[in-house]
Amino acid sequence: MLKADKREVVVIGGGAAGMEAAGQLAKAGCIVTLLERESVTGGHVKNWYHLFPDSRNSDEVIEYLARQVNHDNITVRTGVTAGSLEKNGKSIIINTSRGERIRSDAVIVATGFDLFESRRKEEYGYGIYDNVISSADLEMMFRKDSIKRHDGETPRRIGFVHCVGSRDAKVNNLYCSKLCCVTAVKQAMEVKKHIGNASVYCFYMDMRMGGALYEELYKESQEKYGIIYIRGKVSEVSENIDTRLIVKVEDTLAGRPLRMELDMLVLMAGMEMSEGGMGLAESSGLKTGENRFFAPADHHFGTNKSTVAGIFYAGACTAPMNITETISHARAAVADVMDYFRNI
Ligand code: SF4
Repeated sequence: MLKADKREVVVIGGGAAGMEAAGQLAKAGCIVTLLERESVTGGHVKNWYHLFPDSRNSDEVIEYLARQVNHDNITVRTGVTAGSLEKNGKSIIINTSRGERIRSDAVIVATGFDLFESRRKEEYGYGIYDNVISSADLEMMFRKDSIKRHDGETPRRIGFVHCVGSRDAKVNNLYCSKLCCVTAVKQAMEVKKHIGNASVYCFYMDMRMGGALYEELYKESQEKYGIIYIRGKVSEVSENIDTRLIVKVEDTLAGRPLRMELDMLVLMAGMEMSEGGMGLAESSGLKTGENRFFAPADHHFGTNKSTVAGIFYAGACTAPMNITETISHARAAVADVMDYFRNI
């Protein structure tokens, strides 16, 4: 890769994509400023416990990313949001939430994704019934090594609802979030590791296991852990007097409606363009697609490029992607930045 001595690059977003991109840019000789709106870097990875497909502890990924940004050429600034981007000749000006105007030779936007807000699917009862939780809530329970109902009991019958906020015209998200099927499989197995005698059900529309070792994980979940997969859509959730959840499902394989009593229900929230990314798109005239993620300049040859010279994309701000894909996408963004510097 070309050495880009002293070129200044701002990376917006301190999750996996932004941290990897910053590290690679610094190694190539760039002077990098990494802006993260939260008080700490690490994005969503820091909130997860074990990662699919190999149950790697997410702390290992966080440690790797922290090493990437531990470089003399990188300044990490937390608690700072990029409000808008402006072209100024060949430079780009980043207007920050602190009123600064930072000049840069190139920008990598790595604003990531937000998890779908499960309250928007009222019929599932998130925010109404205490024992309806999201996949992110469950991950926090794994981290604390304590899976409990709201009343302190250990749940014995647990359901997972797939496609919450994805493939759903009612919430204007027609796309598949790609990772929630395998996340459900991973979490279902993890529940069984914690609570050996639990009965665990996954309510799915299709099982989309399109990644390395995902299908094997799915098979293992059935054969080794006894996870029960029910093809059907949950139509309604209510609570009985004992705070057990009554879940109505249309079992589309058996062709009959089901009514099940569960102790806990986990909603597999999909991925959406982040609020920060949306704000940046609107303020800076960056194009978004029908799915509201950043639209790349070319779906085959330019997934890291915006339509504005000098502004590039890395990671899940362009589409749902897993950590492996995110790291690769960030590296590809840096290759495009280097190519850009060669030609200006
Ligand atoms: S990955 Fe699975 S759960 Fe997620 S949106 Fe696609 S089909 Fe639904």
